[in-house]
Amino acid sequence: MTEVPEFREILKYITFMNIAKNVGSLSYDKKYEVGSILVKNDFKDIASIGYNGNFSGGLNMRDSDESGKSGFIHAETNMAIKTKLHEEYISQYYTVFVTLSPCEMCAKNLINLGVKRVIYLEKYWDNIKTIEYFNKSGVSFISLREVIEDLYLKSPLLRGIGDVNDTSDVFLSKQLEPFLEISSERCLDIINQFRNENKEVSFYNILINSYKMGC
Ligand SMILES: [Zn+2]
Repeated sequence: MTEVPEFREILKYITFMNIAKNVGSLSYDKKYEVGSILVKNDFKDIASIGYNGNFSGGLNMRDSDESGKSGFIHAETNMAIKTKLHEEYISQYYTVFVTLSPCEMCAKNLINLGVKRVIYLEKYWDNIKTIEYFNKSGVSFISLREVIEDLYLKSPLLRGIGDVNDTSDVFLSKQLEPFLEISSERCLDIINQFRNENKEVSFYNILINSYKMGC
């Protein structure tokens, strides 16, 4: 297989977001299982992890089923509390990977931790305050989808597989083939499976979900 630098990068981002997701699966909060990890920008270290939960010795159940009233300490804040690195070092070398975008209080905690880059998997509400605080503090706040799409668009080799305006399933399966390391026929099966399950059929969605499914 041809080595495509952007492809390796995309794999790293997906892999580390999956680690954050696995960390989140340890949460006792069955409404929102959230995982957060502090990752070195060269992907060679994870400095801290956190998932949402109660204080040590506290009951492992939500105070209320209402959103925003779990009473739990959020994943990013737990991650921040456990971090031993210095603020300036974090600013320069580390990125937060979190499965659900930070609420406004966690955004403040991450800013004070020194974080300058936050990548999230799914969005939590509208994040108006979070975006405002991050903008004010020079924190880059991006979704994994944006990261992957940027890398994908930067790669002439990946884009060169065919006509980018071609939206057919055959073209999509050809694009996915090198990422999933499976045949374009198998990619077509997956695309059909997505259609049957009424999931969004897009390069990003199939890529992320296929890694989750481990196909
Ligand atoms: Zn929070």
